Amino acid sequence: MAGDNELVLHVLGTAAAWPFPRVGCACPMCAEALRDDRLRRARSALLVERRGSEELVLVDAGNDIHWQLLQAGENVHRRLAALVLTHPHSDHYLGLDDLARALKDVREVLLPFYLQDDNLPVVERTFSYLLPSREGARPWEKPRFEPRAIRLEEPFDVAGIRFTPINTFHTDTFTTCAFRIEANGRAAVYAPDCARIESETAMDADLLVIDATELDDATESHLSIPTALETARRLRARRTILTHIGHHQISCADRDARLAGQATVATDGLVLEV
Ligand SMILES: [Zn+2]
Ligand SMILES: [Zn+2]
Ligand SMILES: [Zn+2]
Repeated sequence: MAGDNELVLHVLGTAAAWPFPRVGCACPMCAEALRDDRLRRARSALLVERRGSEELVLVDAGNDIHWQLLQAGENVHRRLAALVLTHPHSDHYLGLDDLARALKDVREVLLPFYLQDDNLPVVERTFSYLLPSREGARPWEKPRFEPRAIRLEEPFDVAGIRFTPINTFHTDTFTTCAFRIEANGRAAVYAPDCARIESETAMDADLLVIDATELDDATESHLSIPTALETARRLRARRTILTHIGHHQISCADRDARLAGQATVATDGLVLEV
């Protein structure tokens, strides 16, 4: 029953690092996305809502966040209580400047920005003028984000929602997190960039939204459709949605056939009730 669901995930974007359709590509996947706007994919981002609460938590702000906020609804930028970062690869944080502009006239205080300690130097290199350190800031630029350190396996609460960071072993450069996201007895796990999950914290979720960047063969940094399905089975996820979709180059019908009903593939704008 939808009315009982306490947690709502708004999937703002579902592409891996490069959006769809790809420029100049005529593969079945890109051709379908050119013909049908609903199959276009922007960079991965997620908006988390606890039912009945005005506040929203944004997970990641990549290159497309400006359009994604517009698409998500008129007042979404006013309702943001925090930004949570999975990791500072360009497709997950390069929209910080656009997000700062959206917050300019609606927020007096800095937006809490939850991220791993080893993620902060990367963000500072590009956007120090948006942080309280203000290095390189021009006189008219104000800081917009207040960094708050998070650690693997240590839960933090924001807007009545509990987030627990989980290691996804996505890169050696810095820590990358998946999050167990909980409110009122409901649990989702969001793992857009994931090489593997070892933590028990990811077990037995009502919903798992997980990396399927690759079609057949997983890489050192990303899962594939078969390894994502295998991970979902091992974690005993009650429902599985694939995201962070890479260049699979096959039609939707061919791709769905490989899923054998064990999961569905997210689309931009999908609303998931947990
Ligand atoms: Zn990514
Ligand atoms: Zn293509
Ligand atoms: Zn990444």
